[in-house]
Amino acid sequence: MANPHQELNGKQVWQRLIAGNMRFVQGLFQGRNLLDLRRTLIRGQQPEAAVLCCSDSRVPAEIIFDQSLGDLFVVRTAGLVLEPTSMGSLEYAVAHLHVPLLVVKGHECCGAVTAAVTHPENDEGHIKAIVAKIAPAAAQARLTGKTGRDLVEEASELHLRALEKILRQESKIIGAALDQGRLDLVVAKYLLQSGRVEMLVSTF
Ligand SMILES: [Zn+2]
Repeated sequence: MANPHQELNGKQVWQRLIAGNMRFVQGLFQGRNLLDLRRTLIRGQQPEAAVLCCSDSRVPAEIIFDQSLGDLFVVRTAGLVLEPTSMGSLEYAVAHLHVPLLVVKGHECCGAVTAAVTHPENDEGHIKAIVAKIAPAAAQARLTGKTGRDLVEEASELHLRALEKILRQESKIIGAALDQGRLDLVVAKYLLQSGRVEMLVSTF
């Protein structure tokens, strides 16, 4: 199958995603023939990017970047927390699907971050494992003296920036691909009101 993404580098893929996000912001979604696409994709997938994003129902990467079937390899966990299986899913996209770009896409008003900031001790069951992963960023954010919504967004950005280091340091596969220039990484935040995705960090 001809892969339109194979020749693109990470920066070019990001530019495609941002162009899609602009369409999303304006409500000008690209029309696609999903029946044809579905049939074509039976032969295999060659997504243009891997995306780590939140499970929040308001932030699906495919819609926000106006992409379609086969375009994005998406891992969603509440608060974008990483553990071995979610990390392994991203590694699969890098090592076997050869995506040139990994996007870490957080969002405003994240419930998981809010929980870590406001009531870290009250979470039951396995929810506390999510909150515990965000707790270091929440603790660091409190040092700024910010409160309320500002504190939540500070913690959110600190958590997102920390994810870049975690991906580099805890995944040999992702770290090596970044070091060798086979992979680019973007850390970004989705703004609920405007619909825009704002880049915080990139490797290009
Ligand atoms: Zn969230």
